[in-house]
Amino acid sequence: MAGLSLRSVSKRFGNVEAVRDVTVEIDAGEFAVFVGPSGCGKSTLLRLIAGLEEPTSGEIHLDGDRSDVLPPGARGVAMVFQSFALYPHMTVYENMAFGLRNIGVGVGQINQKITSIAQNLEIAHLLDRRPRQLSAGQRQRVAIGRAMVKQPKLFLFDEPLSNLDAALRARTRIELARMHQRTQATMIFVTHDQVEAMTMAGRIAVMNQGRIEQVGTPMEVYNQPRSRFVAAFIGTPGMNFLPVATTDMQGGRMKVRLTDGATIDSTVPAAAVRGIGPLTLGVRAEHVHAGGGTVARVNVIERLGDRTLIYAMLGDGSTIVYDEPGDASIRIGEKVELSFDGTAVHLFDATGRAYHAE
Ligand code: ATP
Repeated sequence: MAGLSLRSVSKRFGNVEAVRDVTVEIDAGEFAVFVGPSGCGKSTLLRLIAGLEEPTSGEIHLDGDRSDVLPPGARGVAMVFQSFALYPHMTVYENMAFGLRNIGVGVGQINQKITSIAQNLEIAHLLDRRPRQLSAGQRQRVAIGRAMVKQPKLFLFDEPLSNLDAALRARTRIELARMHQRTQATMIFVTHDQVEAMTMAGRIAVMNQGRIEQVGTPMEVYNQPRSRFVAAFIGTPGMNFLPVATTDMQGGRMKVRLTDGATIDSTVPAAAVRGIGPLTLGVRAEHVHAGGGTVARVNVIERLGDRTLIYAMLGDGSTIVYDEPGDASIRIGEKVELSFDGTAVHLFDATGRAYHAE
């Protein structure tokens, strides 16, 4: 097990700044997920850690030693890609043994390692098959097994689940989480899927345009997003953003009036927000409730089984989504009256910085 430290790491490709001044510490044994939209620099960051790219500036330390100066093979890092890249003409056993044979590990030891890891990953019965005789999920486990036999200090996963169908993705997510619990290996997982990030990570690093916007536990990032970008990216459905027309102070807290006239007594401390220009209110679907003074008209209904998402238009034309448990008896075109939980709203300034209710 090893901890990873990225210190002011940047990577340029010509005039593209793929990774900008990234500093983050991943603890030994941690399962960290780097999440962000396509092109935000996640894969580049992983490739820098693996040694497939060289940083333009900054340092990478693994297990206390500087690793960015070492060739990829000497770093003790194993990378599992989206495409698995198994050798098609080799059996599962041979795929797993290949790297060990290359570095001169004895037959007995190879056998022992593969048997134990294959049992752990529930692929022991597949060792004689070739990759084309496996399901995508099984191939994925073989790719992980092949990485595990080398006993790396650090596992890197680059969107390894994106080729799988939804049900298999959910199952493999659980398997990976179990595997992490069993092995306590240090793992970094890259994905653009925020559900994957929320469900698997011990800590999430949210990336945007080459930078890390926020690092925190899934619930910290969900409940206390540092920026409007993080608030919008994490959570399904995304947070509602509504323009604030005027603000007032009441008992040291911000009272806001939306452009459609609704007023919200928030518990955002006024001292933090005082004098800051135009504000936007952020509120998650579960903090908008039926009953209250804000009138809206329902225009889309999504029935998810356990809950219903209701999209409604406010008087000023902005759309808001809220949810009701179960199969809500609501129809498109219906007029609804809504209220906002002022203790759970966020305010964002023009730069996107967040101010939270306390
Ligand atoms: P995705 O989820 O689509 O894989 P990502 O977050 O992994 O995206 P990267 O692949 O790291 O993003 O790319 C970050 C930026 O760097 C992008 O703008 C990309 O076009 C650019 N980039 C990546 N590799 C190179 C390269 N070899 N040469 C030039 N530009 C590159």
